Amino acid sequence: MDRLRVTIVEARELVLAECPRLPPVTVELADSVGRVLAADIVAPEDVPPFANSALDGYAVRAADVAVVPVELPVVAEIAAGAAADRALAPGEAIRIMTGAPMPPGADAVVLVERTERLDRGARVRIHETVRSGQAVRRPGDDIVVGSTVFAAGTVVRPAIAGVLASVNARSFPAIPAARVAVLSTGDELIDDGSPLGPGQIRESNKTMLLALVAEAGATAVDFGVIRDDEAALEVALREATDTCDIVITSGGVSMGDYDVVKAVLSRIAEMTWLEIAIKPAKPFAFGRLRRADGRPVPILGLPGNPVSSLVSFELLARPALRQMMGHTELLRPTITAVADAALRRSTDGKVHYQRLHGEFGADGRYHVSAGGPQGSHQLAASAVANALAELPDGDGVPAGADVLVYLLSS
Ligand code: AMP
Ligand code: MG
Repeated sequence: MDRLRVTIVEARELVLAECPRLPPVTVELADSVGRVLAADIVAPEDVPPFANSALDGYAVRAADVAVVPVELPVVAEIAAGAAADRALAPGEAIRIMTGAPMPPGADAVVLVERTERLDRGARVRIHETVRSGQAVRRPGDDIVVGSTVFAAGTVVRPAIAGVLASVNARSFPAIPAARVAVLSTGDELIDDGSPLGPGQIRESNKTMLLALVAEAGATAVDFGVIRDDEAALEVALREATDTCDIVITSGGVSMGDYDVVKAVLSRIAEMTWLEIAIKPAKPFAFGRLRRADGRPVPILGLPGNPVSSLVSFELLARPALRQMMGHTELLRPTITAVADAALRRSTDGKVHYQRLHGEFGADGRYHVSAGGPQGSHQLAASAVANALAELPDGDGVPAGADVLVYLLSS
């Protein structure tokens, strides 16, 4: 089988072209964090909806407290959630709480700490002048009715969900979370806790990939460990395609004789087999499997070695999922870091991705130290890494030099 030899940048372009944005759906506010808005949100009402007090204190006319101290009769009290039952006349004060509506006639609020309660609250002595409008929150101060609060393309973060609630946006068009089928392949894999037989190992990729998918904001669907059996794999792939937006497999895409993923996908799907000039994660497959109705569902075939699976996910699958979910920032943030130790590699025509630990130093720069063992089967060392260093072809980076890293966690 011919493999397309590509750079990582070319590979990502090819994969992204197969993974278009999902069509918008109506999303409930309660389920919206992490989603990308598919339409502008226009405010149907002012926030705040009415003039209200920014403080606990006394609503007054600023003109009445121009000379202090001054004593005024307290003619009413308004709590948040109540409405003024009378207007404020000249020479009067009304006790008012934070968030309570301003009574008609009042134009400012005096902070309670600047006042003295007299006659069991019947009167108040005011010690501080205020200007007209002081401590009054005007209607529309935050959001004006009819204005665009958030544009299509905005990612709903917690505070944005709060604002959406404040303008009564209870459901709205957004790009849904992708449903992602995840399956592992291999006769050697055990995932039920039973003792290992000869040649068997415990499954790790599926567990990791399900969590990576969820962390990327998508919905992971566990399709289990599939034996190296063409019929069983075809059944699983068809079910995954029928019920999910994208399928991620691990294992069986390299040059081995029992790579049944390769055999089955070559037969039932339209696939491209890549040899990417990177280490780890050289083999990668992508393509589409059509549902009975002809709708194409993208398939990403990640390599089986656990570290390769992880790096493939970061560099290719995660950007693809993010694009499907409407994001425009597809890659992890990068930073130019200082390599505290030399990051050695050999010249081999590939870009190397080393998994390292990094943190900000007292100098304000991000520092990475040498990582643990970098073998593609040694997931334990890579698992604790929070930085992925990109080493261009050559012999690496000396201690103290700059290196580009992807920040894997915030
Ligand atoms: P393959 O690409 O199927 O030839 O697998 C490459 C290597 O990755 C082999 O050593 C497999 O045993 C290992 N491997 C494949 N899938 C998994 C998995 N889900 N968990 C742990 N190791 C795996
Ligand atoms: Mg295998």
